[in-house]
Amino acid sequence: MKKLESIGIKRLDIILIAIYIIIAIGLFFLTFLSSDIKGDFVEIYLDNKLWARYELPQKGYKDISVIGKGKNIVRISSEGVCIIESSCSGQFCVHQGCVNDSKTVITCLPNGLLVQIVGRENDDIDMVSY
Ligand SMILES: [Zn+2]
Repeated sequence: MKKLESIGIKRLDIILIAIYIIIAIGLFFLTFLSSDIKGDFVEIYLDNKLWARYELPQKGYKDISVIGKGKNIVRISSEGVCIIESSCSGQFCVHQGCVNDSKTVITCLPNGLLVQIVGRENDDIDMVSY
């Protein structure tokens, strides 16, 4: 009886360890893949100066009013970033649509606004250069 009990506990331990390893690997790949696909932060520049920095939300969206020379409403979401409303005459920034990678920037020249997505790697470089 004692032998059987100890074997039972060992099996349970192995199963638990296996589950922990699977969860750990899964979490590692999830964070690795998600950080590789797109940047993590949105930087908003007004007149070439960093005005604000926001973390991209995991779900849903957040609207930010940027008031400088004019007014822009910047929407950040898990899908990316876009300007949804602007006081400028051309509305080019609104028509530019959403951006979800760090290679493209959205600009509103009349209002002196620039919006871009930056990854964590870029973030580290910025920290050093400041
Ligand atoms: Zn504009």
